[in-house]
This record gives sequence, structure tokens and C-alpha cells, in this order.
Amino acid sequence: MATFEAVPLDHSPPDRSPAYRRLTNQVLQRKLSLFGIMNQAKIVQILGFLAEWAMRLRLPVKGIIRATVFREFCGGESLQKSLPRISELHSLGIGSIPDYSVEGLKSEELMDDTLLKLQDALAFTANHEQTPLFVFKVTGLVHVNLLEGFGCNTLTDPHQLQSYQRGVERVHSLLRMAAELQCPIMIDAEESWIQDPIDQIALEASVEFNQSKAIVVQTLQMYRHDRINYLRYCMEHAAENSYVPAFKVVRGAYMEKERERASLMGYHDPIQPDKASTDRDTHLAIEILLQHTTAFICLGTHNRWSCVLATELMAKFNIPKSSNRVIFAQLLGMSDSLSVELADAGYKVAKYLPFGPVNKVLPYLLRRAGENSSAAGEISREYALLLAEKNHRRKSASVEGQTSSAA
Ligand SMILES: Cc1cc2nc3c(=O)[nH]c(=O)nc-3n(C[C@H](O)[C@H](O)[C@H](O)COP(=O)(O)OP(=O)(O)OC[C@H]3O[C@@H](n4cnc5c(N)ncnc54)[C@H](O)[C@@H]3O)c2cc1C
Repeated sequence: MATFEAVPLDHSPPDRSPAYRRLTNQVLQRKLSLFGIMNQAKIVQILGFLAEWAMRLRLPVKGIIRATVFREFCGGESLQKSLPRISELHSLGIGSIPDYSVEGLKSEELMDDTLLKLQDALAFTANHEQTPLFVFKVTGLVHVNLLEGFGCNTLTDPHQLQSYQRGVERVHSLLRMAAELQCPIMIDAEESWIQDPIDQIALEASVEFNQSKAIVVQTLQMYRHDRINYLRYCMEHAAENSYVPAFKVVRGAYMEKERERASLMGYHDPIQPDKASTDRDTHLAIEILLQHTTAFICLGTHNRWSCVLATELMAKFNIPKSSNRVIFAQLLGMSDSLSVELADAGYKVAKYLPFGPVNKVLPYLLRRAGENSSAAGEISREYALLLAEKNHRRKSASVEGQTSSAA
């Protein structure tokens, strides 16, 4: 008898998104106005520039940012303050992944302080059923220059080596705490020139902490043409060392920066030649992980096609849709239509929930806005769905009006 209950998602998306159908007219209009502005790349660029300068000059713009982009894309200024948002998502069957969005810190004191904040947030995550996973960036705990130096074997100064070790110890203490709390923790992937030491830390920690379940989850950026080979290597490593392999699979966020640096410094571009190659390897990675009997996968994507494919493969490999082995993840405020569709169909879904003081998460917000204001960007897709919802309501209201006046 078949033991699976996975029913794949339909290939074509619904005309009206279940996520937007439930919005009040007021919230729908608010989202439409914001996404309408974010849909225009030039305006986003100018507003981003102004916002950054206004914050630097301490002009009173926090309120505007808090009421607009922050409200849409962040949980709150602290995890406690994010609780209403976490509960709202939970009521839709969607989990939250707390993400303290601080990156690229420079001083030991700031990094020590970040570790304390991350430990608090990790404890919160482990204590709430609405938060199934935690996530962090290594560059919040280890100086980016030290990671780069270690990665290319140029870190020879004893003081720098000591600082590097201190940073790695911060990362280890967070991973150890996650293991003690039995709370899965994802390590975000960053630029390729600092990724080798991050992968090394993740692999060593996986051997130590993933003996009986997935605790440490490393990230694969499938826009890198070397990642399928790396995934195969990791799967062998997991088999040889008897631990549960665990990965977040994403396409990758730093494509332009990667290409620019490779061309400037004259080394081979680490990025795939085209989008189709990235898509192919993304889907191959999903298949390799789902085919395995115990591997954990968090599929971090806003691409509906990739999610449909994953649901089809789950059905093919008899993986129940409620399995804890497979989590679909999107960013807060983005692809809500997809998240709700997956959750309604019974799959495990969670949203990255960035939180922190407005000035600290501003770089994150600007990146999100910039990444998504292109014509093919996510905001465009969501804007079209929001507009469809508004038009549907307008038509229904006018039909109702005609019916009642006829009566
Ligand atoms: C929950 C979650 C977690 C994430 N974590 C990380 C992380 O840890 N590290 C990280 O780097 N990113 C991360 N991202 C961002 C992610 O890598 C993508 O940048 C973003 O999600 C867009 O990809 P997509 O699959 O959603 O959408 P799509 O629109 O299908 O893909 C866009 C992506 O395809 C790739 N691409 C586009 N054009 C080309 C081209 N010409 N050649 C080759 N590749 C191309 C790029 O990676 C681009 O971002 C995360 C995203 C989510 C949703």
C-alpha cells in the first residue's frame, strides 16, 4: 500500500492568490501602493539612497521606514515584538525562521554582542513551536577579511590567526547550543571567496552534531557551477562519517558581485553561464537530497516551478508532505501567494523573519528592494497578483451593485 500522501502542486498558479483573498481592502491597498513603488527600479534606487543618508544624518525618517518597508519585510525590532507576526503566520500554517539581520561586523566587541543576541534568539526559537528553525550568517561572528584570508591561505599573522580562531569559537558555541537545545540551525551561504571556511566549519559541525538528526544545515548556492560536485562529496562524507546530511538549497544572491570580482581579478567566473544552468543544478540538488533516505532539505526559493517539481519528487519518492525532512522557505513579505498555497496543500513552509533595530536591518531592506525591482523580479509577480485581487473585488462589487439596483 502506498504510504505517501503528497499531492503535487498544480503546474499553473491559481488566478487569485489565497494569500491575498483574505486581506482587508485597506491592507490590500497598502500593499499595492508599496509594491507599486518597489516595482520601479529607478525610484527604489533613489529612495534607498535617500533613506541611507537620512539615517546617517539622524533625520527623523525611522517612522516612515517602520510604517512601510520594515512593516512589510521585517517581524519587528525584537523577537518579542515580532510575536504578533509570528502568530499571524502560524494561524496560516506557516512557521517563522528568526533571522537577526546583522552582517559584516568589524569589531570583536560588536561580534561578541551579536553572539549574545543570536543566543537569545536561538533560545526563543527552540522554545516556540511556531519557529521550527534558526538561521545566522557567519560574517556576523567572524570578520569577513579573516574569512577571506583563511580561505586563500594568506592568514599568517599570529594576531589575525588568533582573531580568526576566536570568531570560529563564537560560531561553534552557537552551533553547540543549537545541538544542546536540539534546534536545527541553518548557516547562510555568502560570497564564494569566503565560503570555503564557512563550508569547512559546517562540515566539521555536521559530523559532531548531526549524528541522529539534522541540527546543522549548510547552504548550497546552485548558481555556482561547482556545487553539484560539492554536494556529491558531502553526501559521501555523511555516509562515511554516519551523520544526517542537511542542506538549504538556494540559487544564490550575489551573482553580479561574483561576476564583477572574477572579471576584475582575472579568475574563472564561479557562476553558471546562464539561468537555465542554475535551474538545472537547483533541480538536480533537490532530486539528490529527496532521493536520499534521511537527508534534510530546506528549499529556499520564490520560484513556483522549483516548488512544484519538489512536490512531484516527494510524491515519487513516497515522502509524506508533512515530513519534517522537507521545508519550503520564502522571505517574509515576499511570495506570500506561494507560501500560503504550499501551506494550504499541507506542506511544511516557513518564512525567514528578519528582526532587529530599524537602522541595523536597513541594509537588508535595501538589498531586498534592489534585488526585486527588476521586471522579472518577485515584486512584479506579487504586484500582478495583488492587482488581480483588487480588480476581482472591483468587478464583484459592480456586479453586486447592478444586481441590487435591478432588484
Ligand atoms: C528562504 C531563503 C533563504 C535564502 N538564503 C540564501 C543564502 O543563504 N545565500 C544566498 O546567497 N542566497 C540566499 N537566498 C536568496 C536566493 O539565493 C535567491 O537570490 C533568491 O531567492 C532568488 O532566487 P529564486 O530561486 O527565489 O528565484 P528565481 O527568480 O528562479 O531565480 C533568480 C536567481 O537565479 C540565478 N540567476 C539569475 N540569472 C542568472 C544567470 N544569467 N546566470 C546564472 N544564474 C542566474 C540567481 O541566483 C538569481 O538570484 C535565500 C532565499 C530564500 C527564499
